Amino acid sequence: MSDEIIAAALAGAGDTDVVEVGRGILARTGTIIADALAEQADGSTAPVLIVADALTWRAAGRTVAESLEIAGVPMTQPYIFSAHPIPYASLDNAHSIAERLLALDKETGSRVVPVAIGSGTINDLTKLAAKDLGRRYGVVGTAASMDGYTGAGAPISDNGVKVTVNCVAPKVVIFDLDVAAAAPAAMTASGYGDLAAKIPGGADWILADAAGVEPINDQVWELVQSGVHQALAHPDDLAAGIPEAYTGLVEGLILSGLAMQVYDGTRPASGAEHYFSHIWELGHLGADKEVPPSHGFKVAIGTLAMLAFYEKFLERDITALDIDAAVAQWPAWDAVEADIRTRFTGALADHAVAETHVKYVTPAELSARLRRIVDAWPRTLPRLREQLVPTREFAAKLAAAGAPHRPEDIGLTIDDVRDTFPKAMYYRSRYTVLDVAREAGWFTDIVNEIFTPGTGGLADLWA
Ligand SMILES: [Zn+2]
Repeated sequence: MSDEIIAAALAGAGDTDVVEVGRGILARTGTIIADALAEQADGSTAPVLIVADALTWRAAGRTVAESLEIAGVPMTQPYIFSAHPIPYASLDNAHSIAERLLALDKETGSRVVPVAIGSGTINDLTKLAAKDLGRRYGVVGTAASMDGYTGAGAPISDNGVKVTVNCVAPKVVIFDLDVAAAAPAAMTASGYGDLAAKIPGGADWILADAAGVEPINDQVWELVQSGVHQALAHPDDLAAGIPEAYTGLVEGLILSGLAMQVYDGTRPASGAEHYFSHIWELGHLGADKEVPPSHGFKVAIGTLAMLAFYEKFLERDITALDIDAAVAQWPAWDAVEADIRTRFTGALADHAVAETHVKYVTPAELSARLRRIVDAWPRTLPRLREQLVPTREFAAKLAAAGAPHRPEDIGLTIDDVRDTFPKAMYYRSRYTVLDVAREAGWFTDIVNEIFTPGTGGLADLWA
């Protein structure tokens, strides 16, 4: 697809300097890392510590180690976690990597460079260890499972509480498509779900732009959106493990992370569909399972929920909206806060109240905002239609990719999904179609409609 687009992304990205994606490039990792990551001020090459787990070591680590040796990079004993998959990135594991690096610094007399071999967790742990020591790292991806490779955040579990620690994204990202195609099918399906989020997430940005809340950055939009529909077009080829079919998915996930670096925020990669995933995760969905549903699996269901919402939203004509009537029914802040507190408890309720307050407007401001959306509608509607895809069609694509396409696939009921809609609206200050619908006075009706049999919504899709 897109050497030029990746080059443009790298030019704007603050952290990542080198991205190499292709078939059979594992054997070139040695020279890539020697040149772009391990070169020291005096021209010599710093030693490298490979961080892997038992499976990623077999999938790619061994070949990377050989390649590094051939390239003349001084090697240290690889740090290989025995369990796979490591259930989550715990702070303890990150500290162990950092300690090993410090011990190796002493032993070798240089600053040892960490190179992660793996997908989510191994990358997050290495990212965190590197950040703690103020040094850069590289990652060799082993599965197209999510878009966090090139992101700066590391979701970490500390004493059972999940937090996202702001780190520095990898300096070098290497992804061999043969390795990606050989990865467990569920990991690819997960990446497919995470990339799918760019469809409703992009639509949310189009609306936020139309409302004057968050203008679209055209360059960033191009980076994250230009290849998405194409990359999602052939899920059966991905499920069949055809390496060439992985180009779009791998590049799409990498570009999504780079776009977040360029934009310095997550708006380019996520909208309300991600809040469904976050809320289910905070509810410890599937925590009792041996393998809890992955980020991309939860996002896949969130994506379907939002596509269905968009369908019903676009069946209404916002240009015919009686703005004065919408403003007249706009609840006072106290009523909004009370409603939020019926849906969330504890610290999460306080969080949602604070987030929703950021996007809450006075009646006069609401009137202006709705007027602005209506005025922009002739430009906005075609753009939304181009961006969105039919829910039913996309459910079939998710199924072909081996990704969840029904709530029970991730241990939820239809009612669970329904209950999540208002939570997803309140969960973050980010302005999405859920907010536009609420402000127009349509939100409750649309949710009811989606879950009423015979309306072509989720009740029918998931019957
Ligand atoms: Zn995601």
